[in-house]
Amino acid sequence: MSNKRVLITGAAGFLGSHLCDRFIKEGYDVVGMDNLITGDLRNIEHLMKLKEFEFYHHDVSKFVFVPGRIDYILHFASPASPIDYLKIPIQTLKVGSLGTHNLLGFAKAKNARILVASTSEVYGDPNVHPQTEDYWGNVNPIGPRGVYDEAKRFQEAITMAYHTYHKLETRIVRIFNTYGPRMRLNDGRVLPAFIGQALRGEDLTVFGDGSQTRSFCYVDDLIEGIYRLLMSDYAYPVNIGNPAEITIREFGEEIIKLTGTSQELICKPLPQDDPKQRRPDITKAREILGWEPKISRAEGLKLTYDYFKSLPSEELYKTAHRFE
Ligand code: UDP
Repeated sequence: MSNKRVLITGAAGFLGSHLCDRFIKEGYDVVGMDNLITGDLRNIEHLMKLKEFEFYHHDVSKFVFVPGRIDYILHFASPASPIDYLKIPIQTLKVGSLGTHNLLGFAKAKNARILVASTSEVYGDPNVHPQTEDYWGNVNPIGPRGVYDEAKRFQEAITMAYHTYHKLETRIVRIFNTYGPRMRLNDGRVLPAFIGQALRGEDLTVFGDGSQTRSFCYVDDLIEGIYRLLMSDYAYPVNIGNPAEITIREFGEEIIKLTGTSQELICKPLPQDDPKQRRPDITKAREILGWEPKISRAEGLKLTYDYFKSLPSEELYKTAHRFE
């Protein structure tokens, strides 16, 4: 029998490319799909020569078709940073809604199991802390993050509808802040922003007073959690993230120490609707998947810093957003 075959959307992105690596390693044939709006082919360059890997340059907001068998689908196509949503709000809405609908229909046609990438953003600026999966969230639908948050909430709703109505095998992962090699240096997220600033000899920009919290998960831990969820029989949303919570100010101080920069933290205005606190409750992941993160922030940040340092120095100065 031939290898099982998996379709990964957003394959040239940060998480998508790591998923491609993992499924190749597990012995699958992998079909990567990406419209390359925020993805970068360099993230999957090393896979292009493999006979187990194929790439489709396609926008999943349009009808999706791949000939042949497909056993699993992982839908990871979406802009995923606040700067991206501001620059490409309509595409963000479309990929989470129309794109998800297309992929659910495609999964049904292929009799495939589908896992969709949801996000801690479905909890908005949460009033429940840490966030459990049964919390419904506190989202501003018309704020700058609304295009992402509401698309992802719709994605969960339509995925559950396909599960209950069409008996499709579905999985929903709620991803909390994740970092690691292949993040885009200029995507505006706090980790590449701070490391980029340190490497360029600039001050590190803390938004607001830096008392807001996040909990950062190293990418390898996240990929392991997603792999286990896909292989489980659990159709309801599962949080995957690292519960180690830190304020953004303390995080900036860690980056200053790690990079040895002589620069300082400076304050910039806090963006609208920036969540004040975020930490996953991972009880479900522990109980259902036997999963918990293994890589400490110190270890993960070192690996990530080494990656950013290894990039050609001109990358550091590509500070303009890709859509400018
Ligand atoms: N942030 C910051 N400086 C930056 C970029 C982000 O202080 O240069 C803050 C941002 O306001 C937020 C946190 O870091 O409170 C995490 O931001 P990110 O965009 O990485 O992710 P998200 O807000 O989606 O969790």
